[in-house]
Amino acid sequence: MIRNYQDLTTKEMSAVDKERTVVLIPLGAIEQHGPQAPLGTDYMIACAMPQYIKRELEAVDPDYPMLIFPAIPVGLSVEHMNFSGTITMKPDHYYSMLYDIAQSLAEHGFRKLAFLICHGGNRACADILSRQLRHDFGIYAFVLASGAFSDPEVLSTISEGNTWDFHGGEMETSMVMALHPETVKLEEAKTGYKKGGYSQKGAINFSNATALPWMAEDLETEDGTPIGIGGNPKGATAEKGEIILTRSARALIPAFLEIRDWKTRK
Ligand SMILES: [Zn+2]
Repeated sequence: MIRNYQDLTTKEMSAVDKERTVVLIPLGAIEQHGPQAPLGTDYMIACAMPQYIKRELEAVDPDYPMLIFPAIPVGLSVEHMNFSGTITMKPDHYYSMLYDIAQSLAEHGFRKLAFLICHGGNRACADILSRQLRHDFGIYAFVLASGAFSDPEVLSTISEGNTWDFHGGEMETSMVMALHPETVKLEEAKTGYKKGGYSQKGAINFSNATALPWMAEDLETEDGTPIGIGGNPKGATAEKGEIILTRSARALIPAFLEIRDWKTRK
């Protein structure tokens, strides 16, 4: 059974099989997503994605033991702080907050957590935390990316000519249009390009082997104005967003089934 963590009474919680039940913790962010998409883009996705996962998961295992924790609205978004409205935590505070939540869950007997990464900037902290939690409490904190952005069906939603869709681009804008269309101002959309010293052929990239981790001001419009997004959101639609959300949830199902069967050690 998949339920929302906060909906249970303490009596109901005491009856939960903590050994088997996975606590899914969605990690959102409040940060700029360009002139067309809301600050809460990642938070909206963090709130919605567990429901898509629930639907897909219940189709293959109606008894899947999971509790959905409330989405954490704020994350690590320092790379967006030069744009109005972004909120960030400091890495040590964010780590400690998630650590305390996990420790509480461990004290109640839960053995399996899953961090659902709905903002890429939160990933590094979740990875570090996962190892520490396993060391300190013997609990297993799986780390799952929420967007299947290299899935062929997801990639097929990108408009022709939109060659580099990234943060705040067509895919993310489409997802918000599927969830909260009234918050999207598509008429304001402009294309963002990777600039600020990065080049397609250069040795230093945004991430990977040799990198300078990017800041949102490295993403500029054609005329060199920092815009903070990558790609052209103009072709975004709610229908595309629905495909991306559904497909991304479905892509996670094999991982959830393995988590269910993962043998934890005492
Ligand atoms: Zn985002």
